[in-house]
Amino acid sequence: MPDSTMKEQASATKEIGEVLLDVRDLKKYFPIEKGFFRSVTGNVRAVDGVSFQIHEGETFGLVGESGSGKTTLGRCIVRAISPTSGQIRFRLPDGDEVDIAALSRRELRDVRKHFHMIFQDPYSSLDPRMSVLDIIAEPIRNNRLLAEKRDIQDRVRDLMQVVGLDIQHLNRYPHAFSGGQRQRIGIARSLAPNPRLIVCDEAVSALDVSIQAQILNLLEDLQEDFNLTFLFIAHDLSVVEHISDRVGVMYVGKLVEMADTDSLFADPKHPYTEALLSAVPTTDPEIKMDRIILPGEVANPAAPPSGCYFHPRCRYAQDICKSETPQWNEVAPGHFAACHFADELDLRGVDSVR
Ligand code: SF4
Repeated sequence: MPDSTMKEQASATKEIGEVLLDVRDLKKYFPIEKGFFRSVTGNVRAVDGVSFQIHEGETFGLVGESGSGKTTLGRCIVRAISPTSGQIRFRLPDGDEVDIAALSRRELRDVRKHFHMIFQDPYSSLDPRMSVLDIIAEPIRNNRLLAEKRDIQDRVRDLMQVVGLDIQHLNRYPHAFSGGQRQRIGIARSLAPNPRLIVCDEAVSALDVSIQAQILNLLEDLQEDFNLTFLFIAHDLSVVEHISDRVGVMYVGKLVEMADTDSLFADPKHPYTEALLSAVPTTDPEIKMDRIILPGEVANPAAPPSGCYFHPRCRYAQDICKSETPQWNEVAPGHFAACHFADELDLRGVDSVR
């Protein structure tokens, strides 16, 4: 079955609920310190005023080149690091809303079980000295969800079965597993406290293509079974297209485009998205992609260019782009872009080549 048809069927059966996560004007600046007295001479604006919402049961993909700020954004959302300013409003199971950005350490302890992060590297994200049992049981123990040893073991066995691991391997250590199996251990661990939101940071990037597909299918099944909501951070657009309902594109700490997946891939409104899409591989060897090679590097977030941050690399840039920051506008229903010419440019998507 073609990928697009599978995707249509999946989204037809998917239930998207109320807003679960509401990120408002989020900023994370890292101070640049110099000299003996470590005086602050500037800031690296890793995340610079990002706003978006994710609905319950939805998968929101976040893409951008390395250095665009997407991982820092994900780490702020689970409060692995504290944001500089802005809000991260999160709806708890009882309907109450908390601002994750403003929670004290103690308050954070009580709500942390509702969100979790899966990391890129299944090799280094698991403690090699801990057995699978202890790795998966750790968040259960830390959150005091179960007290009896027997209950914890039963829960770990259940989780291993859910993610397709052999329960006979309960007492093995991470080195005895393949990359795909280790990522399954990481997923089981993230599911242990029954979270509502999982942030997947390049969760399949380190895996072989065939294993990637297995893990993506597993995540989709788990989403349906446990009504999970995903923030899926990746640089690989084919992966993001496969799994996401909506996609946000980041460049130098800012969102530059956001839309439902089909619209963004078929009809991009920002030149940066067009360039990223031009690099998406096609399965048809007859089709030669005209890849757009972006000149230069991602702008320095400590000293970004004036006006539109993308202007030094943009093939459509005009004088206004050098001096005026483009506004974040809704250019079509649910389709947002920050480009002075988003309404005028006829940019190339990927549907035409599939
Ligand atoms: Fe390119 Fe100008 Fe649009 Fe920025 S505002 S993406 S430089 S056309």
